[in-house]
Amino acid sequence: MMAPASLTDTIYLICRLLLSAFAVAAAANAIHYAHQDKPVYHRHMLVARIGAGLLGIAATMSCVDAYDNVFVRRNEITPFANWLWLFCFDLILPVYAFMLVRAWRQRDQAELELARLVVTDLLTGALNRRGFFDRAISTIGQARRAGQLVSVVMLDIDHFKMINDQSGHFAGDQVLKRFVYVVSLELRPGDLLGRLGGDEFAVLLPGSTDDLALQATERMRARVRADVTIPDGIVTISAGVAALLEGIEPEPALVTGLSVADTALYAAKQAGRDRAHLAPSPVPSRQSA
Ligand code: GH3
Ligand code: MG
Repeated sequence: MMAPASLTDTIYLICRLLLSAFAVAAAANAIHYAHQDKPVYHRHMLVARIGAGLLGIAATMSCVDAYDNVFVRRNEITPFANWLWLFCFDLILPVYAFMLVRAWRQRDQAELELARLVVTDLLTGALNRRGFFDRAISTIGQARRAGQLVSVVMLDIDHFKMINDQSGHFAGDQVLKRFVYVVSLELRPGDLLGRLGGDEFAVLLPGSTDDLALQATERMRARVRADVTIPDGIVTISAGVAALLEGIEPEPALVTGLSVADTALYAAKQAGRDRAHLAPSPVPSRQSA
């Protein structure tokens, strides 16, 4: 194995090899970006793949250039133009690639965060009305394809206006936040909790018959009673539970189910609050027969 002719050549060789390694790292970074689970822009995926290919070529060319300058044209002083080329052109490509992928990642994150905020209730962190309906409709579709029944629950805090009046609006907000946290503890992965407005919430329970949904609701109710408190006492909720109709599209099934659950909730309020009522079992439509 021949040794480099001069110290300058040795340094040039090391710089070229480091640049190759840097280009390979930039290519790996671009490929990693292109293979992430949830791409936001498919166009970026293509550019990242092409960029990774170009960086691979640049890394190879860098090694070839080092070999040519240091070992083939030995005893020549590495020309200034080579250094200029190395720092002003070859180095730019991987640096630019790193910066571009970083900017894409930041943009992806900002867009995902924005998309999350659009469907989130900012006070409680639960889904907002729009988010709940969007997610619920797709969840119902998935559950049906898996042959599962779906139930909904309407939840409403009892005498919430009084809590606001007695303890203040800020304390009311804290009750709403705590309520969502506590109810979330009783949900399984795949269940949805949405704030439909004020102190009224809806829960979608895919894979639950109405009996199972009632049991889950009683657990939520007991937890709220135990874990959501105000200075002057406890917080209670009323609930209405209904199974969704089968044989109709997810959206009308959801709207009808929520309406039936709301009627059951109203009955629970009328019966004295702090209780859950189960709506009568739905009658399947003709289409499902
Ligand atoms: P009921 O037992 O019949 O449900 O009685 P209620 O007092 O809870 O009556 P209702 O559900 O109509 O009251 C909802 C109250 O929730 C009225 C409104 O001032 C209050 N509210 C709505 N949104 C918010 C909020 O974001 N924060 C707070 N603190 N209060 C809210
Ligand atoms: Mg209320």
